[in-house]
Amino acid sequence: MLGMQWHPRLLEAVYERSHWLLRPFRLWMVSGGVVERFFVFFERVFKGVIFDCCQCGQCVLHRAGMTCPMTCPKNMRNGPCGGVTASGNCEIIPETKCVWLQAWERSKEMRVYGDEILGILPPRKGQLDGGSAWINELSGAAGQTPAGWAE
Ligand code: SF4
Ligand code: SF4
Repeated sequence: MLGMQWHPRLLEAVYERSHWLLRPFRLWMVSGGVVERFFVFFERVFKGVIFDCCQCGQCVLHRAGMTCPMTCPKNMRNGPCGGVTASGNCEIIPETKCVWLQAWERSKEMRVYGDEILGILPPRKGQLDGGSAWINELSGAAGQTPAGWAE
């Protein structure tokens, strides 16, 4: 299933369709209840297998080439860092390709959100760790940025 990440256009379509399907139910999607427990379980299983998701609760896959930035050893939310090797590998784990270089390559395959990788992502909210990214997105919690932040 890890190879799925090399099909960013398909994953993007799944994301978009899921967003469309869940949006009408956003009033019921609140944190702290049985609905969140279900989504946390669902996300842990599927996103864990496909994206190696660690459930940061503030998903930016569609803004990063359907590649999880939390899999970068430095958890760089805006990458790459300055340590990418000349061959495009990670300075921390030299045998693997830089996560952000993979994100860049995959973003070029995406039809709708590919250009989102050019934007600057806001700082991650640690309070959302372990929660459902879908609930946080649809409830608006994930979209709240720190005071003074302007993208
Ligand atoms: S950005 Fe966060 S929620 Fe999305 S796949 Fe990565 S760890 Fe999971
Ligand atoms: S080289 Fe890439 S994957 Fe490695 S720490 Fe830097 S940004 Fe992250």
